[in-house]
Amino acid sequence: MNQLGLFCSRCSAKLAFRYEQLKCSCGGTLLVDYDLEQIRRNVKKEALQTRYPSMWRYKELLPVRSPEAIISLGEGWTPLLRLQAWEHKLPLRQLWIKREEQNPTGSFKSRGFSVAVSLLREAGALKAAVPSNGNAAGALAAYAGHAGIQAYVFIPLDCPPLIVQECPLYGAHTFLVDGLIHDAAAIIEVGKQEQGWVNVGTLKEPGRVEGKKTMGFELAEQLGWTLPDVIIFPTGGGSGVIGMWKAYQELKTLGWIDGDMPRFVCVQEKGCQPLVDGLGARGKLAAAQIPDVTEASPTGMRVPNPPDLELILSIIEQSGGTAIALSKEQIAEAALALGSQGISSSPEGSAAWAGMLSLCDSGWLHPTDSVVLFNTSHAMKYAILDAKSQMPVIKNYGDFLQRLK
Ligand SMILES: *Cc1c(COP(=O)(O)O)cnc(C)c1O
Repeated sequence: MNQLGLFCSRCSAKLAFRYEQLKCSCGGTLLVDYDLEQIRRNVKKEALQTRYPSMWRYKELLPVRSPEAIISLGEGWTPLLRLQAWEHKLPLRQLWIKREEQNPTGSFKSRGFSVAVSLLREAGALKAAVPSNGNAAGALAAYAGHAGIQAYVFIPLDCPPLIVQECPLYGAHTFLVDGLIHDAAAIIEVGKQEQGWVNVGTLKEPGRVEGKKTMGFELAEQLGWTLPDVIIFPTGGGSGVIGMWKAYQELKTLGWIDGDMPRFVCVQEKGCQPLVDGLGARGKLAAAQIPDVTEASPTGMRVPNPPDLELILSIIEQSGGTAIALSKEQIAEAALALGSQGISSSPEGSAAWAGMLSLCDSGWLHPTDSVVLFNTSHAMKYAILDAKSQMPVIKNYGDFLQRLK
């Protein structure tokens, strides 16, 4: 059986595996440590090809030890689609989009919660709580429902109605919070002792980063065990980027890939852009402050105070990446650009497209680059307006055909 441990992403200290309190004494985030030498001996990457198309094909590199504890709804192994027409237009050597909206809960959050809830089941937990702009809440609700664990989800009042309404349909105790995601998080921290909630918020437990890590594995495998030059990811709490960066460290240690790390690009919406601001102020970062984010829309990118900003910034820097903030207008235009190619994209996925266009314009992306965008969720979850009220209604068939002439 593969032994698990933890290591500190800041000071590299190694510790025994534990489920809670993933902060090192140095302040760094603790991540799951595997015996990669043993995995290298026992698993060959070619052997993965015959496995079931699910993120659990990488089970040796996931922290769930008992197979019967695995809670799966069919997550992962999402399509990687090539957008050839645009490669010529931009130009880029290759342009791909990873269709994470096809996960069972309509966003890439399924991956993290499949692992997190499996760990809860292994630990015999009865109740779990999460602060969320919506998709984490829906994913916890679905996976906890499947596992027979009670879910408590806390969502800012202004989040998209369909995402919120899905939570009670999955059987979750659903609460709206008059505030932002950190206000929701504070409620859980204060109440968890008395209520018996396990907090499965970003970087509070090991499973979510590990689940999101599988996006990195899949990308490498789908590209024939090579890496793209650039990954563009809509970033909020940062566990998506942290997970993929960790995936590539592990694949390198295993000897399954070589070459340079992809340059990680984090996209955010203007108004809530701690990564863009943090990169700008690198070296003289004061204590984390909560900026005024009233401008930014309620999406997964709206996280004013990511739990380990330092780690995300260091991944961006080490990989030669960057962070960019897009306006609402740029994001809305990008949704149409993707939609008219047949791809339903949430504002987050659209922001990745808008970021790509902007980095092509500025020359940061080169014609020799291969680029992967992440479409982290689909447009339907964000539908708010009754678009039908703006569409023509046919009352009389004959009149209508007459007018078309
Ligand atoms: C949560 C979320 C994000 C941000 O992901 P992080 O891993 O928190 O940085 C992006 N897009 C969507 C659709 C999300 O739900």
